[in-house]
Amino acid sequence: MVDFGFNIKKARSFNLTTSDLTKASELLERVPSYRLCISCGGCTATCSARQFTNFDIRKVHNSFRRGLYSGLDKELHKCMLCGKCTLVCPRGVNLRSLIINMRQILDSRTETL
Ligand code: SF4
Ligand code: SF4
Repeated sequence: MVDFGFNIKKARSFNLTTSDLTKASELLERVPSYRLCISCGGCTATCSARQFTNFDIRKVHNSFRRGLYSGLDKELHKCMLCGKCTLVCPRGVNLRSLIINMRQILDSRTETL
């Protein structure tokens, strides 16, 4: 096999029909600008925390809106809330607010379990 210097990632699959989207819907109500996200990755590319950790904010918010919440609370605490991602988002998504609300929703989720 030829070594191209990279590997194609294994495909991830999820079922939106069986996913629990309650928290994702709550997030969209709290931060309506998130409906405009086109998943371009500009937020991840500019992220301050990304320079020092493997934090990937696009992966985190995409997982959240797909109902894949496992491990996200731990990931979200890598964010320093500097707001740089909000400044560069081409769609005007209020990412700082999005992150704060994801943390709050996940915290309340833990309390009710
Ligand atoms: S930069 Fe904005 S539009 Fe692009 S993935 Fe991030 S939140 Fe979505
Ligand atoms: S607010 Fe958080 S996610 Fe956004 S650039 Fe700063 S550290 Fe990264």
